[in-house]
Amino acid sequence: MKLQVIGDPVLHSKSPVIHGAMLGALGLDVSYTPQVVRRGELPDYLRWARENGVTGFNATMPHKEDLLPLLDWLDGDAALCGAVNTVCLRGGKWIGFNTDGGGAQAALEGAGLWPARNVALLGAGGAAKAVAFRLAQAGAERVWVCNRTAERAEALCGQYRCQALAPAGFDPATLRRLAAQSQLLVNCTSLGMAGCGRQFEDFSFLDALPQGAGVFDLIYHPAQTELLAQAERRGLPTLNGLPMLVNQAVLALEHFLDRPLDRKAMAEAAASALRGEEA
Ligand code: NAP
Repeated sequence: MKLQVIGDPVLHSKSPVIHGAMLGALGLDVSYTPQVVRRGELPDYLRWARENGVTGFNATMPHKEDLLPLLDWLDGDAALCGAVNTVCLRGGKWIGFNTDGGGAQAALEGAGLWPARNVALLGAGGAAKAVAFRLAQAGAERVWVCNRTAERAEALCGQYRCQALAPAGFDPATLRRLAAQSQLLVNCTSLGMAGCGRQFEDFSFLDALPQGAGVFDLIYHPAQTELLAQAERRGLPTLNGLPMLVNQAVLALEHFLDRPLDRKAMAEAAASALRGEEA
């Protein structure tokens, strides 16, 4: 069995370290390698993968949406989001999955930040969509999708016709008003990410959050964004994006191997390998 992660760029991806650690912990002799696949090269890649014994791969930018028409079947979350991050070859058919939302929920549960009744979710890009849909499915009464570009938040909420999702603005007054009613705030924008060069201009929405409300930033590089540092200073429980990254990989590996795994043991093996890499 051969597994891969494809994208462009992809050589910076932490997936080989995470999957390598989990496969090692399972004692499986399965390779997991990064492969640069440029936009437009997906049909050639799928042919090559089939001929070369690749039975599963993760997909990152720019392929998460471009893969859809090339696959034979889409699993629930992938069909709902219109994006895949995990693809498996089963019975000669390519099956697409999306484990980002499940990974986010598992990370929140692991940190004791889920369930939450109302969620202020910042951003309306690909990651926001996967997380918003999942939290709505998982029982949030209200998920406010707060985005700079209003049409994008409206499109996201319109795509998944669920009463829990509501589009909202990204101005400081709106963020403060919605934070005051939320038990969880999730940053799904790229603000504060290393290399992004942009930062929140105003953190006053953190003052409006009720005591004990969680602050989850999907970003894992840096490990502590300014948002999380500011939240911590206010005594709020925080969570960075690393546990989500690890948990979405655990769910992906379950799809690759087509069997349930000891998720806690897998997540520990992956987290420990990542710590080792940093040291
Ligand atoms: P994306 O599709 O490009 O979406 C980016 C979002 O950020 C959009 O909502 C965009 O708003 C917003 N944004 C960008 N610059 C902004 C600014 N100056 N002011 C306000 N909003 C701004 O990206 P993505 O794939 O969803 O990824 C988003 C973040 O999640 C990234 O930092 C990524 O690393 C992280 N992520 C983490 C994991 C994990 O496993 N932990 C998984 C996936 C993604 P507009 O719509 O107005 O442009």
